[in-house]
Amino acid sequence: MNIANFLVRTAVTFPDHAALAHGKEIVATYRQFADQVAALAYGLRHSKGLQKGDRVALIMKNHPQYWVSVFAVWHAGLVAVPVNAKLHISEFAYILENSEARLCIATPELASTLAPLGSDTPVLDITDPDYAALCAGPALPLEDAAPNDLAWLFYTSGTTGKPKGAMLSHRNILSCTTSYFSDVTPINPGDAVIHAAPQTHGSGIYGIPLVAKAGIQVTPESGGFDPAETLDLIAHYPNSCFFFAPTMIHRLIGSNAFAGANTENIKLIVYGGGPMYEADIRRALDAIGPKFCQIYGQGEAPMTITVLTQWELSENHNHPRRAERLASVGTERTDVEVRIVDEEGRPCSPGTVGEIIVRGDVVMLGYWKNEEATRDTVRDGWLYTGDMGCFDEDGFVTLKDRSKDLIISGGTNIYPREIEEVLLTHPKIDEVSVVGRRHPDWGEEAVAFLVLAKGASVDPQTLDAFCNEHMARFKRPKEYFMLEALPKNNYGKVLKTDLRKRLEN
Ligand code: AMP
Repeated sequence: MNIANFLVRTAVTFPDHAALAHGKEIVATYRQFADQVAALAYGLRHSKGLQKGDRVALIMKNHPQYWVSVFAVWHAGLVAVPVNAKLHISEFAYILENSEARLCIATPELASTLAPLGSDTPVLDITDPDYAALCAGPALPLEDAAPNDLAWLFYTSGTTGKPKGAMLSHRNILSCTTSYFSDVTPINPGDAVIHAAPQTHGSGIYGIPLVAKAGIQVTPESGGFDPAETLDLIAHYPNSCFFFAPTMIHRLIGSNAFAGANTENIKLIVYGGGPMYEADIRRALDAIGPKFCQIYGQGEAPMTITVLTQWELSENHNHPRRAERLASVGTERTDVEVRIVDEEGRPCSPGTVGEIIVRGDVVMLGYWKNEEATRDTVRDGWLYTGDMGCFDEDGFVTLKDRSKDLIISGGTNIYPREIEEVLLTHPKIDEVSVVGRRHPDWGEEAVAFLVLAKGASVDPQTLDAFCNEHMARFKRPKEYFMLEALPKNNYGKVLKTDLRKRLEN
């Protein structure tokens, strides 16, 4: 099934329901949304001359027209290449060239940024009269799509090296969507998803289930994450859902606007994409209530490897291993198989750390134009995630660190996340990241980069004493560096590579 069929049928059943909103303003009902999509799809095929399977890049700040564009691309049998608006111009150029995009649809400020590139890919600005004319033209009937037809080239966030294009098929996105309903939450008409995180990534993927079930896509007017604006939108839209990177939850709760804000309208905040520390999720549950669910996935298996359900986070308070569960990423998703294997590919027993691998309809077809990386990553139908973790006896997965972030000191593995979890329980520490530093005798040793709470100060001896109380001595960071902020990429992931580089200088 073509995933654009979600929109076609919602428009039949709920034509007058609100579909797209810009801030508090409803800008399209489902009938209008579907009409614009079918017309733009016609324009892409007939005026722009695109052929089935051609790639269309979407370089857009969060905007309601993103939804029209991406559904038109699918409706027309084309392939969407959503690109994070915050990337550097050289990264735009790389993705346009690597994906061989035949057209790029852009929001106006990004269209101007792209102009000097002189790329071979023509740019269509959504404020251009040409774009409006295309959205009002004749309608294209929905193109058929085979399950393995390419729908989305998902460029990985690339904390190191060049981003790779994970090839996501219609089947992959269908699987991710049905899995949302089975493991995350059901959706009713009128529920809203507020896109404070980039629509080109997790937030956009989690907009699709709301199209399937007649929810409202709300794009903040700022086009991004502003805690005060987000809280204002929450107060306006009942049953609002989110996809947040963990750092966004931290920022929302820590913002001045949060004190006294009414968060009753929140239906669910799904978080993932980076580690959520136990201390932080406890704080979030206290501040907002039992309205959280954690997912673990990656572009190569979008949003769908494991889940720590809302039930687990809110109801299972008295479980004897509550702390471990809060720090875990939950259990395997309904429609995938997850294994943890050693270097020879043999399943690890509970408690033993290995690489997480996953198999199911959500796993990508491979990397675009990169057979070598595909062969390395997808073996016998299993996706090798590059993430290290272990199962416990009850099937809960705890993520350790990506293999490259592991610290090996005197031949013993140190998982930075364990140290980070401990340091974050210190009241004066706001954020932390632990990396390995070269050591002549031990090979590596752990060091910690800390962001302290506003106005706080703390000396290394106190931190040492705190660590000695809570962890094995050899794991204790050998030095602490205080920073104003941790270096992060555009998805809020801490750039450990940057931190390691600082140590070399
Ligand atoms: P991306 O492909 O950009 O979405 O990045 C995926 C990577 O983010 C995964 O391979 C993990 O290393 C990390 N990640 C995703 N979800 C979580 C989570 N819930 N907790 C910790 N790390 C996560």
